[in-house]
Amino acid sequence: LLELESRYHSDTPVLPQSQEIFYSSLTNIFERLEQEPARLKNLAIASEFFLQILQSNHKRTLVEVIYLMINRLGPDYELDLELGLGETLLVKAIAEGTGRTPQKIRSELHKLGDIGLVAQNSRSRQPTMFKSKPLTIHTVFENLTKIAKSSGNASQARKIGLINQMLTTCEGTEAKFLMRSLEGKLRINFGEKSVLVALSKAFCEYEHELSDKNKGHVSPQELVDAEEATKKAFSQIPNYEIIVGEALKYGISNLATHCTLKPGIPLKPMLAKPTKSITEVLDHFHGQEFTCEYKYDGERAQLHVQQDGTVKIYSRNSEDMSQRYPDLIDVVSQIKSQCSGVSTLILDCECVAWDSEKGKILPFQVLSTRKRKDVNAEDIKVQVCLFAFDILLLNGESLLELPLKERRKILHENVRPIEGKFQFAEAMDADNVAEIQHFLDQSVKDSCEGLMVKMLDGDKSHYEPSKRSVNWLKLKKDYLEGVGDSLDLAVVGGYIGKGKRTGWYGGFLLACYNEDSGEYETCCKIGTGFSEEMLQTLSATLKPTVIKQPKPFYVYDASPDVWFEPTLVFEVLTADLSLSPVYKAGINFFGKGVSLRFPRFIRIRNDKSPEQATSSDQIVELYQKQAHV
Ligand code: ATP
Repeated sequence: LLELESRYHSDTPVLPQSQEIFYSSLTNIFERLEQEPARLKNLAIASEFFLQILQSNHKRTLVEVIYLMINRLGPDYELDLELGLGETLLVKAIAEGTGRTPQKIRSELHKLGDIGLVAQNSRSRQPTMFKSKPLTIHTVFENLTKIAKSSGNASQARKIGLINQMLTTCEGTEAKFLMRSLEGKLRINFGEKSVLVALSKAFCEYEHELSDKNKGHVSPQELVDAEEATKKAFSQIPNYEIIVGEALKYGISNLATHCTLKPGIPLKPMLAKPTKSITEVLDHFHGQEFTCEYKYDGERAQLHVQQDGTVKIYSRNSEDMSQRYPDLIDVVSQIKSQCSGVSTLILDCECVAWDSEKGKILPFQVLSTRKRKDVNAEDIKVQVCLFAFDILLLNGESLLELPLKERRKILHENVRPIEGKFQFAEAMDADNVAEIQHFLDQSVKDSCEGLMVKMLDGDKSHYEPSKRSVNWLKLKKDYLEGVGDSLDLAVVGGYIGKGKRTGWYGGFLLACYNEDSGEYETCCKIGTGFSEEMLQTLSATLKPTVIKQPKPFYVYDASPDVWFEPTLVFEVLTADLSLSPVYKAGINFFGKGVSLRFPRFIRIRNDKSPEQATSSDQIVELYQKQAHV
């Protein structure tokens, strides 16, 4: 491995070391990815590009390229790295940068529906007297980071200044992709899942070249192993800088042993599959040891205690929620001080609203009234209690590979609960319908959503980061009649309300998210389950997000009265799923889309971004699981 590393540094680079890679080489790749619908070809395009960067010894650029490809500027858990600038600001920037009037730009945007194309056209019309220095990937990355971090009074002018600096140097398709990156939707047909696969392939080929093994012929098995190692490493350390650094040091196939849990870096949480009945659960776990836990209805909280005593709390999406929950930070610090043998710790918990007087759980709706920004511990009105259901790391040691039975024992032996602030999840190791039914009813009486049923012993009970696993089943009381679960869907369109609903939107067009293509596939119109108050709030929230044309990455036949930017996610209940001539969920799978029958609004999912909406794959799976299908 040392030899591999030294060769890496001494190899003749394809691009001279001193030279930065131009942004145009990346936008050329974006253009090819956008034009190419076949996933395998896209993987080849991206991995070849990664390989060239590796060969040319531009490690830092490789990390920047990856982030630009997934339209982010760093790991999910770092704050203030979001792009997603509004249309108004972008129109203003293009107008100032290219000398066209905002009206002309708006009318072109209305026609084309893509701010990127408008910027590209505006640039190409501009006479240029001098050829300016080409943009480099590093400059773009740095400027985008400055823009994302820019806040306060003068931030708009600062952002426009930085955009213009770049825009005036853009050539070819650079302006198009620059604007789309700023808008937060690159649309290159290439999601994060594919980036990981392409990256592992590039590393495999690179290492082969260096070691002269078969002169660059990588076996299919090596590719599979490398892909698995990369995905596993990323699910525990979702940080490309560390992943690339460790892969260069130790080789891609050894990545999983070197990228393991670290307090302060949130791992991707394990997720559950839906089930529709207790008998389905029993059939599934037949002959194996399993456990039922209360399924608390709150917000997932991954709790980290670092070596220096710092406490962090991360959301289901790896967002740092520490500032939102100063009260919980105090609780965890208290736990740490009470447990003398504990230096570092990672726990998987659910945070729920708590009635301190009556000593009981409050519904999710109460939790959602808590402030999300600028929270002062003294002003907090809604108290919360953490329910810990898993321990993932203790004193620097990862516990992921231990059976749940042992993890649970370690949790109970090492961490002390604090009544009403930090408790262990209620659990029962039952194995017959009557007992489970009783526990399910009990959970609902105690304001929970139902049960989580988990494999308790053996290999299958290991914690599987980022996986929606069959070893965790959710049994939601309210959804036993439907498809077994609620769906979380992005709101992409609105229908003008009539009668009592005049003045607001009376219905909405919803879509699921296709993780491979990055498109939103429409799957139903919804108008049931809303209170008048909710419709009023929704209209106020959604009006500023109206766009003149559907986004090019919307897949639809339906024609709502207005289209929205994808910003909101609704949790929705459905009677069942059926194939539809109008809706498009999973269209690539069946040739026809799947749609929801009798959809009913339950709540807004503030903790999910539109890209974390239920995926088309999940909808296809739920559709196929229906008895009549
Ligand atoms: P998903 O996370 O499956 O996409 P979701 O966010 O809508 O969907 P649910 O389907 O309601 O969540 O179920 C999984 C969630 O249940 C977990 O992410 C966690 O927040 C919560 N939860 C509550 N109690 C438990 C428990 N005992 N074990 C695991 N998760 C629990």
